[in-house]
Amino acid sequence: GTNGMFTPSEKKKVIVLGGDGFCGWPTALYLSEIGHDVIIVDNLSRRAIDLELECDSLTPIQSMGERLKVWKQVSGKEIPFHFFDVAKSYELLRELIAREKPDAVVHFAEQRAAPYSMKGPYQKKYTIDNNVNGTHNLLCAIVESGLDVHVVHLGTMGVYGYGTSGGEIPEGYIDVTLPGGRESNILHPMSPGSVYHMTKCLDQLLFQFYQRNDELRITDLHQGIVWGTNTPWTKKDERLINRFDYDSDYGTVLNRFLMQAAMGYPLTVYGTGGQTRAFIHIEDTAKCIGLAIENPPKSGDRVEIFNQIAETHRVRDLAKIIADLTGCEVKSVNNPRKEAAENELEVSNKKFRSLGYEPISLGTGLLEEVTQVADKYKDRCDVDKIMPSSFWNKKIEEQCTDDV
Ligand code: NAD
Repeated sequence: GTNGMFTPSEKKKVIVLGGDGFCGWPTALYLSEIGHDVIIVDNLSRRAIDLELECDSLTPIQSMGERLKVWKQVSGKEIPFHFFDVAKSYELLRELIAREKPDAVVHFAEQRAAPYSMKGPYQKKYTIDNNVNGTHNLLCAIVESGLDVHVVHLGTMGVYGYGTSGGEIPEGYIDVTLPGGRESNILHPMSPGSVYHMTKCLDQLLFQFYQRNDELRITDLHQGIVWGTNTPWTKKDERLINRFDYDSDYGTVLNRFLMQAAMGYPLTVYGTGGQTRAFIHIEDTAKCIGLAIENPPKSGDRVEIFNQIAETHRVRDLAKIIADLTGCEVKSVNNPRKEAAENELEVSNKKFRSLGYEPISLGTGLLEEVTQVADKYKDRCDVDKIMPSSFWNKKIEEQCTDDV
């Protein structure tokens, strides 16, 4: 039908933390498009990390000022922007919430790359400080404001750990029999595979505590790997273009493959490519957040958890799909990560489905991504950034240097 797009039952005021990022920008535009009042907060740290890593979005993203000016021209809608650090500037966050009285805060403002979080001690510590403090500041500021603000957080499928549970991964909670025989329903055991994923596990405990202690309304979206670049809203003008990361730290696997294909570079599969991952298109990320804002948990209900994914694929199968589409080669390199070589992954996404979510599947936009994005901007690509440059430990790093 309407492809998941809908008119919200009421206009809401929504603060988007991390609204300059890969998921945050298209989501902010979508929420504005469907009629919500959107406010963006971002400290532009992702752009600063580009300087540190000496790479850049493949797509020519514009400054926040330019982005918002163009959005106003094409939509007539104003999105105020506040430049500050959610993890460090507690006062500014608290004042913004108290002044604006938002109905919801969507929280994207975290360091989100697993490889970057494993690069070295600076990046490990930064990821912990930034992510854990940012989430805690938000929860603390809402409690202090005394307002009823729905928190919608972007979590990850990675909290479950890959391949640790047999069978379908439920949405957040599992039934267990505790020692002594008592039946209970608890958070699915967490098994992070990187410092980044660990921060998302810690976030889950922060949410559980603040929900129980202060009855905050919280939705945690356990999202799969996002692919694709643009959405109908970022396509309205080229200056609204979304970022596209292809480097080995920030490029998510499918986007990395698309770039490699466009460059005529072999697709680099880690090990056997037997890792199974969950995927979702960027347009669906935005729409699912719209649905989550429309359906907040009731006050007093436990933390609402959705698995925000469309489908699962084995990495080597993904590589084959793209190789078949483009004629490029597939090459196996040593895995820079410490993880099982092969894993199964079955995931339930019943809750979003029951709200009318019809996901975009991988087949649909892939070729367009190759031609309209990867191929179109390939002159901006620095191929030296494609091979892994962050390793999970010293031993793995030594094995991987054999690849070069
Ligand atoms: P991104 O790095 O592109 O965007 C994050 C944004 O938050 C950036 O613009 C950054 O500048 C901002 N930010 C970070 N720390 C901040 C702080 N302390 N104060 C203010 N702003 C800050 O990442 P993304 O891909 O858009 O991911 C957004 C969220 O979605 C993350 O929490 C991530 O864990 C989650 N997620 C992403 C994916 C994916 O495939 N991209 C998958 C699952 C979950």
